[in-house]
Amino acid sequence: MDLNGQNISEKNFDVVIVGGGGSGLRASLEISKSGLSVAVVSKVFPTRSHTVAAQGGITCAIASADPDDDWRWHMFDTVKGSDYIGDQNAIEYMCSEGPDAVFELEHMGLPFSRFENGRIYQRPFGGQSKEFGEGGQAARTCAAADRTGHALLHTLYQANLKAGTKFFNEWFAVNLIKNTEGSVGGVSCFDMETGELSIIKCNAVVLATGGAGQVYEQNTTSLICTGDGLGMVLRNDLPLQDMEMWQFHPTGLYGNGSLMTEGCRGEGGYLINSEGERFMPTYAPKAKDLASRDVVSRCIVQEILAGRGCGPKKDHVLLKIDHLGEEAIKRKLPEIREISMTFANVDPINEAIPVVPTCHYMMGGIPTNIHGQVLTQDQNGADKIIDGLYSIGEAANVSVHGANRLGGNSLLDLVVFGRAAGRHINEKYKDSGRQNLPKSEVENSLEVTFKLNETKDGENVFDLKAEMQNIMQSYFGVYRNKALMEKGINKLNEVTEKTKKLHLRDKSNQFNSERVEALEYLNMLDIAKATAFSALAREESRGAHAREDFPERDDQNWLCHSLFFSNNNEVKKREVNFKPQQVESFKPKARVY
Ligand SMILES: Cc1cc2nc3c(=O)[nH]c(=O)nc-3n(C[C@H](O)[C@H](O)[C@H](O)COP(=O)(O)OP(=O)(O)OC[C@H]3O[C@@H](n4cnc5c(N)ncnc54)[C@H](O)[C@@H]3O)c2cc1C
Repeated sequence: MDLNGQNISEKNFDVVIVGGGGSGLRASLEISKSGLSVAVVSKVFPTRSHTVAAQGGITCAIASADPDDDWRWHMFDTVKGSDYIGDQNAIEYMCSEGPDAVFELEHMGLPFSRFENGRIYQRPFGGQSKEFGEGGQAARTCAAADRTGHALLHTLYQANLKAGTKFFNEWFAVNLIKNTEGSVGGVSCFDMETGELSIIKCNAVVLATGGAGQVYEQNTTSLICTGDGLGMVLRNDLPLQDMEMWQFHPTGLYGNGSLMTEGCRGEGGYLINSEGERFMPTYAPKAKDLASRDVVSRCIVQEILAGRGCGPKKDHVLLKIDHLGEEAIKRKLPEIREISMTFANVDPINEAIPVVPTCHYMMGGIPTNIHGQVLTQDQNGADKIIDGLYSIGEAANVSVHGANRLGGNSLLDLVVFGRAAGRHINEKYKDSGRQNLPKSEVENSLEVTFKLNETKDGENVFDLKAEMQNIMQSYFGVYRNKALMEKGINKLNEVTEKTKKLHLRDKSNQFNSERVEALEYLNMLDIAKATAFSALAREESRGAHAREDFPERDDQNWLCHSLFFSNNNEVKKREVNFKPQQVESFKPKARVY
C-alpha cells in the first residue's frame, strides 16, 4: 500500500503482541504453543525490557513450602494494600493461580535462590501478613538473589525461541488499526533501523507496553517506560482507569533514582533520620519498615518536612543494612551493593545508603477483565468489551493493585494475566479468518508520524519533555491539594499549546531517536493529563493518592475506580468488583499496619 508517498508493507499474523517484557513474553509463549502465529513487536531487544530491572522477587503463598501461609492471606493483604479498590475477583484469581504460575517458571528453568532444604527461597516484603493481618510477618516473595526480573525475562525469552514466536525487535508500534468490522485488527509500526513503515494485520492485538514512570522527573524506571500503549488507547477514544494512582517507592537512591529494593528492608534493613533514629516504628508500630509502600513514602516525607532529613539540604533519609553483615549483603543483595557503590559512592557494608521516595510504578492503566480484554463504558455506565484488543502487565489495569501495589505482585500479575490472556485468545481465535484493514484506517493510525515529518520549525521535544516531567514532579507528587493541582493543570495546558508547534528537526530514517522520543513524548503528555484530571477529581485520600485538603478516605463517594476519557478530559466512576468466586469478599476496613 502507498500512503503519503511512502510504501507500507503488510504482514499477517493471528496475534500481535506489542511489548517483549515479562507479560508480553508470557502471553506469546502460551499462544505460540497452541499453534497460532504470533508476532512480538518490541522497541528494544526483549531482554532489555524494564522487567529485567526487577530486583526483589515475585510474590505467592506456597502452602506446601510454608504450611503457615495460604493464598487467601495473600489475597487479603493485596485487597488491603489496594485500599479496597482492587477488584476482588481479579485478586482472587491472581493469588490462587500464583503458585502454579511460579512453579511453571521454575520448571522452565528460572534459577530461583534456595533454602537449605531445596525449596524456593522466599523473603518477607512489605504488607505481608499471616492470618488476615493479625498474625505477624509472612515471607512470601520468591527471589533469584536481587535479580529476579532478569532471571524471569531470560527464561521466558528462551522458552519463546523454542516455541517459535516471531520477534520484530527494535520496531516501534505507532497505533492500533480498526478493520472493516470496526474491531481492532492490526497495528501500524516502523522498523527503527530503516524507518520503513509496516502494518501488521491480525485478529487480536495485545498491548503489553509496560508502565510510564518517565512521566515524572524522578523515577526508578527505564527510559523506555513511556506508556505508549496507553497513548494509543487514548488516541482511539478509549478510557484509562485509576490514573491518579502512582506508586512512589520509599527507597530510590538519592540523586540518581535507582531502586534500592524493598528486599533490603525484607532482609532486616531499616530507615533512619538525621538524628540516627529508626522512625518507622513510631508511625507503623506493627509492620514498622515493612508497612506498605505508600505509607512508608509518606512517613519519609513527614520526617523531611519536620527537619529531620539528612545531608546538607536535609532532603533525604538513610537506609541502614550494614548490620546484616558482609557475607549476607554479598550473597542476598549483590546488585544493591554494586549500584550504591557506583552511583552514591557508598558501600552499604560500612555505611547507610541515602534514599528518597521516587516514582516507581503505575497502578492505573488500560481497564480490562481477567482475560485481558480491554473495556470501555457504554452510555448506561456498563462495561463494554473492545473486540480484538487485549492488555496485560503494567500497562493494564485489571485491577489487582487498586490504589497501592504490594511488592512482588507485579511480576506475579505479568505471568498470571499474560497466561490468562494467551489462553483466552487461543480459544477465541483458533478458527478465525482475518478482516481487511481499510486504507483510511491505516492512514488515521499513522497520522501522528506523517504530521511530524511535515514540521518546518517550532519547539523541540527535549525541552517540552523536561518541562512536562517537572510539572508532574512538582504538582502531582506524594502530597496533593486542589490549588496545587489546578496550577499544575494550567501549566500542562501551556505545554500542550507549545506541543502543537512540536518540530522534528531530524527527518532521517535510520535509527532516528528524535522521532522515537517525539512519539513517546506525545503519549506521555496524554498520560500526564489523564493523571492530573483523575487526581483532581478524586476528592479523598486513598492508597498512593494523598490529598492534604481531603485527608480521609471517603468510602461513601469514592470506593470506586476513576475512568478518564480524553474527550473533554472527563472523569467518570466505575464500580469495584466485590465478587470473588471462592471466598467471601473482604469488606473495607481502616488500613493500619
Ligand atoms: C527498578 C524496578 C524494580 C522492580 N522490581 C520489582 C520486583 O522485584 N517485583 C515486582 O513484582 N515488580 C517489580 N517492579 C515492577 C515490574 O518490574 C514491572 O511492573 C514489570 O516488569 C512490567 O512488565 P511489563 O511486561 O508490563 O512491561 P516491560 O517489562 O516494561 O516491557 C514493556 C515492553 O513494551 C515494549 N514497548 C513499549 N512501547 C512500545 C512501542 N511503542 N513499540 C514497540 N514496543 C514497545 C518495550 O520494548 C518492552 O519490551 C520493578 C520495577 C522497576 C522499575
